[in-house]
Amino acid sequence: MKIIEHNMLGKIECVRSMRAHSIRLVVRPDGTLRLTYPLFSSSSKAIVFAESKASWIERTRRRISQRAALLPTISSAEVEQLRRAARTYIPTTIAHLATKHGFTYTSLRISKAQTRWGSCSGHNGISISLFVMLLPEHLREFILLHELCHTRHHNHSAAFHSLLNSLVGGNERLLIAELKHHHIPRIRE
Ligand SMILES: [Zn+2]
Repeated sequence: MKIIEHNMLGKIECVRSMRAHSIRLVVRPDGTLRLTYPLFSSSSKAIVFAESKASWIERTRRRISQRAALLPTISSAEVEQLRRAARTYIPTTIAHLATKHGFTYTSLRISKAQTRWGSCSGHNGISISLFVMLLPEHLREFILLHELCHTRHHNHSAAFHSLLNSLVGGNERLLIAELKHHHIPRIRE
């Protein structure tokens, strides 16, 4: 792999790949380009190809930055507030739910995860993102119940879903649909 600084297109990562059958161009989320080309081709051929796609690259970069601007943001001070709220709310609520439904977990961690609301390890250690504090209470509980159900089923099998569904009054699908409207915000520096 080599990185070149193109005077018109900016940074391009050039990757010669055994698996590539043709030249492939991708605009990364940060706007940089990645060019993959087959062994029988060359980086100069690949760059000529990229140059021929200049207007597509520009359109794609514009679309990416417009989408990023639409994502909600949060300041680091607000994140600290959420962390404090999470430290009071999550341990008591999850302990209460575990006792009520007969689950046991080995540890609880409050994380700053921005790609998922929670997770459960093979040893039943539960991790909950502090960003659940931005959700309405019933969705927050739904996340906690989801992770608690993983202490019994370490997968998303039918058995897992039927257990979780029984704990939320048959509303699992509805709650999943509702959760899709909530996004973890980007942290402003
Ligand atoms: Zn899960």
